[in-house]
Amino acid sequence: MDQGEDFVVANNLDDLVNKMNELVDNSLLNKDEIKKQIEARDRELDNLFTKDLQVTALRGSRFYRGDRLIRTAKPHKILDPKNGPLIAVKLNIISRKTLGGLQTNLSGQVLNSDGCVIKGLYAAGETAGFGGGGVHGYRALEGSFLGGCLFTGKIVGENIRTS
Ligand SMILES: Cc1cc2nc3c(=O)[nH]c(=O)nc-3n(C[C@H](O)[C@H](O)[C@H](O)COP(=O)(O)OP(=O)(O)OC[C@H]3O[C@@H](n4cnc5c(N)ncnc54)[C@H](O)[C@@H]3O)c2cc1C
Repeated sequence: MDQGEDFVVANNLDDLVNKMNELVDNSLLNKDEIKKQIEARDRELDNLFTKDLQVTALRGSRFYRGDRLIRTAKPHKILDPKNGPLIAVKLNIISRKTLGGLQTNLSGQVLNSDGCVIKGLYAAGETAGFGGGGVHGYRALEGSFLGGCLFTGKIVGENIRTS
């Protein structure tokens, strides 16, 4: 929080929103609107039957002892000063997974829109759809990307060597 250029820390909401707007040199955030939203969220912590999905999910995950001990902090009111300073983080958007784009045959040769081989062009890994949603079925199964990427890299390398 001290070093990160995308982190903003303040003791009250007014300062936090001002600093967030200063960070991007633009008054993108409206103090009153943010306050209204956080107060509405904090209010739900007093409601055992809340329909707030985030609060419900937090409470749900704390039923499991593993999450309760190391992963999910006890839900608390954001605007209660006894819970420490307010922290905001500027988000930067990245593409985490592409799930492919180029169609190949099983040797890794890229196919054109007619399904014919484009001579001399190969693709392996995520760009060929072999991250997750390739060898493991249509869905992007978490944690299953690297294996398929390495495997297709090996296949393509071998095919280039022997062609
Ligand atoms: C945050 C995050 C967490 C992940 N966690 C997991 C996980 O826990 N388990 C798992 O299995 N998978 C995980 N993945 C997915 C996995 O890391 C990727 O699917 C995998 O690394 C893709 O490998 P790749 O070689 O196909 O592509 P990349 O690793 O994207 O390699 C492509 C390379 O091409 C280079 N390049 C691009 N354009 C050009 C150009 N014009 N000329 C020359 N070079 C170029 C890029 O710089 C890059 O080095 C995660 C991905 C992310 C982003």
